[in-house]
Amino acid sequence: MKRALVTGITGQDGRHLAEFLVGKGYQVFGLVRGQNNPKAQMVQDENPALEVIAGDLQDLSSLIAAIEQVQPDEVYNLGAISFVQLSFNQPELTADITGLGVLRMLEAIRVVGGAQNNPIRFYQASSSEMFGKVRETPQNESTPFHPRSPYGVAKVFGHYTTVNHRESYGLHASSGICFNHEGPRRGLEFVTRKVTNGMARIKLGLQNTITLGNLESARDWGYAGDYVEAMWLMLQQDEPDDYVLATGETHTIRELLVAAARVAGYDDWSPLVNQDERFERPAEVDILTGDAGKAREKLGWQPKVSFDELVELMYEHDLKEEQAKADTKRR
Ligand code: NAP
Repeated sequence: MKRALVTGITGQDGRHLAEFLVGKGYQVFGLVRGQNNPKAQMVQDENPALEVIAGDLQDLSSLIAAIEQVQPDEVYNLGAISFVQLSFNQPELTADITGLGVLRMLEAIRVVGGAQNNPIRFYQASSSEMFGKVRETPQNESTPFHPRSPYGVAKVFGHYTTVNHRESYGLHASSGICFNHEGPRRGLEFVTRKVTNGMARIKLGLQNTITLGNLESARDWGYAGDYVEAMWLMLQQDEPDDYVLATGETHTIRELLVAAARVAGYDDWSPLVNQDERFERPAEVDILTGDAGKAREKLGWQPKVSFDELVELMYEHDLKEEQAKADTKRR
């Protein structure tokens, strides 16, 4: 039975990846931070096969202990401060967890090592936010980076640290340069979920409007469940490498609103939305479009869920969840 250690297990991708790996017959260990973290129980209930272990990307000795205890075949580093807006308010914390955390995990792997004939394989969750002020469209693995947020800067550090450990120490270390991927497990602070959840709550009469920042920013949005398969495929290759993971299709937040309003049965979304510049980023990443040709060719990977299907599945989930919450409150 293969053993995988996943950081960020309580996050969107960690939960999808844990399910995927258990389905592939792995024994999965999830790193959970903090004392009595309430999300530990949530992920255990959701996935009883999962084993939760304590550790923090800010604490090297906890990572060494985790690697020693788990003796993993594969490590997936998904843990991060991942919300760009928060990274502007807490840049030092972001640099420490999202950036230095990668170095700590790689060093823990290097120090503990794996079995001689079975070295530990490592996946780093890199981000399209590294492209920031884009130099070319679409962006691929050779497009230069120009991050536009403390989050993007920290991810560039994590990315190059991964490349450096691969080149300097021969680690099987790969990066997925992931464009945005979403789903019902996306945090409510992210714009896609804010829109689908807000639209569901408006439909149920629980709120009147959704407050958003720049409606013209454009992203390449896929479904998280599709992306975790590519992460796993990367670690099954003989050679480690970096891959852009993207749909190749870009939509603005305005288009997201049109799609969400349509599934909710509204012809016009504009009366349902307030714009507030406090939700705008100090430096914007205007348009991101990924070219996942290399992943398609070498990994045989391509995303399955379309943009409209994604919006619909998120809205339907949020409608059900908000209805259930409202029913419980009434009882
Ligand atoms: P997420 O839902 O925000 O999850 C982040 C995870 O990191 C949570 O489990 C969180 O734990 C954990 N974490 C935070 N600080 C930590 C620390 N000090 N030590 C250990 N764990 C810590 O993010 P996601 O959407 O699943 O994304 C997974 C990874 O992919 C992240 O690295 C993200 O930056 C990257 N990425 C995501 C996307 C996307 O569109 N989703 C695109 C590109 C790259 P708590 O629950 O305890 O806070």
